[in-house]
Amino acid sequence: MSKYCPKCGNKLKDKSRFCVKCGYDFINDDDKSRFSFNTKDMIIIILVILIVVSGAYLTFLLF
Ligand SMILES: [Zn+2]
Repeated sequence: MSKYCPKCGNKLKDKSRFCVKCGYDFINDDDKSRFSFNTKDMIIIILVILIVVSGAYLTFLLF
């Protein structure tokens, strides 16, 4: 497998962390994807809190 530098189009090994031709940093790209993953995590956490709160509210209604 190989990937291409988005900045200069240089062909690179899949595990390359930066472009040897122009110095483009792929680690920054990983940070961006990690951030979007965290955003998805936040949505899941909010949904879980809503379920717990609505569950507690139903328990309050029943007793
Ligand atoms: Zn490059």
